Amino acid sequence: MYKRIIVKIGTGVISRQDGKLDSEVLKELVDQVAELRKKRVEVIIVTSGAVGTGRSLLKLDGANSVVEKQVFAAVGQVKLMSMYAEYFGKHGFVCAQVLATKEDFRDKEHYQNMRNCMLNLLQDNVVPVVNENDVVAVAELVFTDNDELAGLIAEQLDVDAVITLTSVEGVFAGDPANPGSKVIREIECSKIDSYEKYITSDKSTSGRGGMLTKFAIAKKLCGEGIAVHIANGHRKDVLLEIVAGNNIGTKFVPHRA
Ligand code: GLU
Repeated sequence: MYKRIIVKIGTGVISRQDGKLDSEVLKELVDQVAELRKKRVEVIIVTSGAVGTGRSLLKLDGANSVVEKQVFAAVGQVKLMSMYAEYFGKHGFVCAQVLATKEDFRDKEHYQNMRNCMLNLLQDNVVPVVNENDVVAVAELVFTDNDELAGLIAEQLDVDAVITLTSVEGVFAGDPANPGSKVIREIECSKIDSYEKYITSDKSTSGRGGMLTKFAIAKKLCGEGIAVHIANGHRKDVLLEIVAGNNIGTKFVPHRA
């Protein structure tokens, strides 16, 4: 069983059609993380959803410039964290907000400070909830996404696995829109290049990532001995099933260390 994992939650997983946070889905996921914590699995959450939530709170539908997205992120992050805090609180857990930029991973001192803080949070039985600091990371609001951030934290904290929750079932062998296409259950890291042909550049409407980024990050991490799962965040007990070793979504099986 995994001892330390990252659970990456995409905007599409925790948002409703109207862009508001889907409190039921968020609560379900928090319930599962709490259950894992009780089984002594250390969990770091990397969550998106601040921009979408801020947009729905401010009701500025047409707004889409970088600075407007920064405003949405600043407003939405408060709501996002308050929900995580409320639901973890119901289980007697405390969670922490960690906002990071890619720059923090380039600066040796920031990197070490962040690592120390995260390790101490875990030791103190706190669940770190990380998001990109969109208010200062202007370039990130245009170019990158939380999949990349989750990958950087995975390396920083030597996790056993990254579970990326998204709105699709996993990597499909064929067009996901075609009912005949099946989810690929396991991808051996050593043979990963032969699966590249199945990856399209489609993105969800709400998040910034997409399968292309997820695949590239999975390739990097599994090469370093970290398992990666891509699965549907709406599937019942998805986290518990994956940690129990059941066949859910797509697993990138790492090189043995
Ligand atoms: N940090 C962004 C947010 O919280 C999401 C980035 C992404 O879609 O990966 O809204």
